Amino acid sequence: MSRAGRLRDALEALRAQTDFAARVKEDPVSFPRRFEDPADREIAAWLAASLAYGRVALFSAALERVLEAMGGKPRAFVERFEPKRDLALFEPLYYRMNSGRDIACLLFLMRHAVRRHETVGAMFRAGWRDSDADIGPALDRFVAELDAVDVSAVYGRNARPRGLAQLFSRPSKGSACKRLNMLLRWMVRPDDGVDLGLWTFVPPSKLIVPLDTHVLRIARYLGLTRRRTGGWRTAQAVTRRLAEAAPDDPLRYDFPICHHGISGRCPVGRAAALCRACPLLGECAKGRALTRAVTAE
Ligand code: SF4
Repeated sequence: MSRAGRLRDALEALRAQTDFAARVKEDPVSFPRRFEDPADREIAAWLAASLAYGRVALFSAALERVLEAMGGKPRAFVERFEPKRDLALFEPLYYRMNSGRDIACLLFLMRHAVRRHETVGAMFRAGWRDSDADIGPALDRFVAELDAVDVSAVYGRNARPRGLAQLFSRPSKGSACKRLNMLLRWMVRPDDGVDLGLWTFVPPSKLIVPLDTHVLRIARYLGLTRRRTGGWRTAQAVTRRLAEAAPDDPLRYDFPICHHGISGRCPVGRAAALCRACPLLGECAKGRALTRAVTAE
């Protein structure tokens, strides 16, 4: 069997073993999935993806507080958001690098998106070109438009503190843009119980993998990349290898791979017993080495 065929079989077996319903509860996509209206889902998804770094329990608690401050109606709140009136709701909030003001500014920029373009999807679509090789140039245009918005109404001057800037990484600056690529996966991939399938104007084949530490680590074990550091080019390289297994939808394996790491079923350390039961073992250099070493002992 070809290398692509072996990889596809292994990744499909991983998908089949993944308990999607259980894992979604441990994933930030559970926040937009609470809402039925696509307009609420878009806003809740952008917010959830933006704060989805660090431990799940911590960012989930922060997201609960922000959604509560928004009255549980994300789209309606963003449309009517007025910094002068509403900043006080967010001042007491913070999450790691993001102050309450940074979170309020994110909502202010969402307001720009929906007031100017009607929906976040329409704003992204304005920068999308069918001829683009992947999602990168459109993502860059999306962030460039937001970077040009005057944020004095939130900060008192038109400056972007670090806590805001880290929410808006750009492919052209070399960032892997993990959280924005995760948002795009949610929006673009068809609704399979995880992703939301709202932005049908982008083919899933143009997405780039949201490269977090778990995905990079397991991608290295599987020989999908030799790079040790994440970045846009590494994310593109991993996506190209996943596309060998699923050319029309390479990110169908992203959620199962990521949660293989998050769940502890593929730990960082030695775990030969887990490797023996792992559907990726045949394609995994680390797993083969670990199980050989234990057998030889
Ligand atoms: S074989 Fe072991 S190291 Fe490789 S992906 Fe599976 S659990 Fe992880």
